[in-house]
Amino acid sequence: MKLSEEHEQFRKAVRQVVENDINPHVDQWEDAKIFPAKQVFTKLAQIGALGLEYDPEFGGQGADHSYTLVLGEELGRIDCAGVPMAIAVQVGMATPALARFGTSELKKAYLEPAMRGEMVAAIGVSEPDAGSDVAGIRTKAVRDGDDWVITGRKMWITNGTQADWICLLARTSDEGGYAGMSQILVPTATPGFSVGRKIEKMGNWSSDTAELVFDEVRVPVSNTIGEVGRGFQQQMAQFQDERLIGAYMAVASMRKALDKTKDYLQQRDAFGKPLLANQYLQYRLAELYADVDVLEAFCRTCAQTYLDGGDVTRMATVAKLKAGRVQREVADACVQFHGGMGYAEEMWPARYFRDTRLTSIGGGADEVMLRVIALLEGMGKK
Ligand SMILES: Cc1cc2nc3c(=O)[nH]c(=O)nc-3n(C[C@H](O)[C@H](O)[C@H](O)COP(=O)(O)OP(=O)(O)OC[C@H]3O[C@@H](n4cnc5c(N)ncnc54)[C@H](O)[C@@H]3O)c2cc1C
Repeated sequence: MKLSEEHEQFRKAVRQVVENDINPHVDQWEDAKIFPAKQVFTKLAQIGALGLEYDPEFGGQGADHSYTLVLGEELGRIDCAGVPMAIAVQVGMATPALARFGTSELKKAYLEPAMRGEMVAAIGVSEPDAGSDVAGIRTKAVRDGDDWVITGRKMWITNGTQADWICLLARTSDEGGYAGMSQILVPTATPGFSVGRKIEKMGNWSSDTAELVFDEVRVPVSNTIGEVGRGFQQQMAQFQDERLIGAYMAVASMRKALDKTKDYLQQRDAFGKPLLANQYLQYRLAELYADVDVLEAFCRTCAQTYLDGGDVTRMATVAKLKAGRVQREVADACVQFHGGMGYAEEMWPARYFRDTRLTSIGGGADEVMLRVIALLEGMGKK
């Protein structure tokens, strides 16, 4: 993919926000186990980063997917994974379906303010009893006149305590399995909605993850995103956006982690020479750089295919799988090569190790990605 001067200017603008408005506060936000989403989103909105591929009629930038690639690469340079994940939810997980399938009224009321950073969005798919198997969700929306009445629970919801609205996947008919689901936009100010609990996690501390409760939450049927009964299919399309931006961020974060580890090994001596003079350490880092190079090239090909209008189901699945796998290796090497300092909370590798473990679980576990690839290869049954 060829990036222009305009892409580089956008990259510079995102990097400035990351370096001036995000990274200096990350330690504090990680300790607080939450970050001020609207403050950060408003800064990103000022450079157009929250609505890159969306329609200018609703305040979007009307840019193409190559800018999302640049955004992901720069967000990967944030010094924790919680904040970039929350941003990725806002731009690539909770809003794509609304932008693609929502009515003008819904977009005006919810997409526009989300792109301005004035509203925080969340995506509500997973439940206490259904994560990998999305067809197992039980949250129900029952039609009553012109309203949906929603009852159920959603689990692991990123931005859950700060969200102004949720792109909710719910059952709208009694057909089981993949049929009879719809996406419904639920404002969190609606009576019957509550945050059940904020979940303590191994990593991504600055991101608020919550269990959400829907107790006869009444919203108009006109809050349906797209077609009634097509929620599962629409959500599967939205997962592609999520997997792509997640992989772009992972590549950049790994390159930064390897660079920092290389610098550390260069300045720390043992046995009368810099640690980096040991060929074993050089080769291990070289191998990991090679893995990152391959993944980066794959991601860019994937972005180009998306741009050309191709089906990226398989590529996005492979990118997500490999991003998780390689990140686990990179994070392990970073901890190992920092010795005791790799294990101490006062240096960055411990957080990197904790945070990156999520890539292989969130947004579809590695095994779910393998299942998709196996099915595409004609193995197994749907
Ligand atoms: C920090 C965090 C943030 C999240 N944010 C969101 C969010 O904003 N919105 C949202 O909807 N969800 C969110 N999730 C949920 C996430 O997408 C799920 O955790 C994930 O899809 C796995 O589902 P599960 O946890 O129910 O695991 P389970 O479905 O219980 O699976 C457990 C494990 O079983 C294995 N497994 C599952 N299926 C198969 C199979 N077919 N073959 C072989 N092995 C298998 C995998 O190893 C998997 O990890 C988040 C999760 C976390 C931890």
